[in-house]
Amino acid sequence: MTKTYKLAVIPGDGIGKEVIDAGMKVLLHMEKQSKGAFVFESDYFDWGSDYYLKHGRMIPESGVDQLINYDAIYFGAVGDRRVPDHVSLWGLRIAICQGLDQWANIRPVEFLPGIPHRLVHPNPESLNWILVRENSEGEYSGIGGRNFSARPDEREVAIQSSVFTEYGCERIIRFAFELARTRTRKKVTSVTKSNAQQYGMVLWDEVFTRVSKDYPDIETDQWLVDAMAARFVLHPEDLDVVVASNLFADILSDLGSALAGSLGIASSANLQVDKRFPSMFESVHGSAPDIAGQGIANPIGTIASAGLLLDDLGLHDEAAKLNQAIRQTTSEGVVTRDIGGTYTTEEVTNSIIKNLST
Ligand code: ATP
Repeated sequence: MTKTYKLAVIPGDGIGKEVIDAGMKVLLHMEKQSKGAFVFESDYFDWGSDYYLKHGRMIPESGVDQLINYDAIYFGAVGDRRVPDHVSLWGLRIAICQGLDQWANIRPVEFLPGIPHRLVHPNPESLNWILVRENSEGEYSGIGGRNFSARPDEREVAIQSSVFTEYGCERIIRFAFELARTRTRKKVTSVTKSNAQQYGMVLWDEVFTRVSKDYPDIETDQWLVDAMAARFVLHPEDLDVVVASNLFADILSDLGSALAGSLGIASSANLQVDKRFPSMFESVHGSAPDIAGQGIANPIGTIASAGLLLDDLGLHDEAAKLNQAIRQTTSEGVVTRDIGGTYTTEEVTNSIIKNLST
């Protein structure tokens, strides 16, 4: 019997539209290859900065509710020079992540064959770590405000609060340990800045120590974020599962993907781990307005995110096959300009599709 998966597709802004086209082309090819085992029923949502300029909001008032009954959300990118970044980000991406309690953001860092990377390392393809980002609170809790703007001489005040709850820390740390159990290396590294952030991040550290006792089979390690940034470059072989707060993991994942070659290859999943609502799959990069509309955006991050989506739907063999097709394409040198190639978005996508069939 054919299994139907309902996808909510949100291309968003800039290159988001181009890379989502590429990802959907791959998913539809895989649907055809399944010979009736599964089909995707996709609804497209035109939410993003153009929508904001027309309607004064990034998504309709009922937007988040409209997504509840899908099996997964496939997201392009958000960001447009005509709309302040904090408006577009909070109005769309964070509205969905928080609204659907997608509390675990995973961001694998992989060193693909054939891609010039930025590390001095004898065997870069052996490197493979995954960032687990707390995706619901921390520095992105959105709690704060601005006041006193009527005072003379520019004396406005802004307060931005970080929120660390024991509940939030525990669920993401436990998730990291469970993920580590599925991997060969079986190690979790926790990243904080608890010497300077003496409340929330000390609570995080204490929860980490407590939860780690339930996982005696998993090696643990704890670092301050500044030292961890250096470690990414100097000792990447020490990394397996790296768990950190919303802001720290966001920054470290850009560092990881840049080290691996380009922001354009990094995939990510915003997981609603409890399966109460759909999860959302997107590349790590933004809307890249500098290259939008030119057909040269690297589609690998978004296509690899489709792999994470397939995994989440339980289509594990298909996800593995897609990863293999991506690796085959990069090892053949069929890559876009950001990683030293000359190929277009469409040519890279077609190569991945060709490699899915071989
Ligand atoms: P936004 O405001 O949406 O975050 P941005 O330009 O500040 O946009 P990114 O979109 O992440 O941030 O882009 C950072 C840099 O990386 C840009 O120079 C962009 O061209 C490049 N880049 C990002 N994604 C890709 C991609 N998929 N392919 C090629 N280059 C990319």
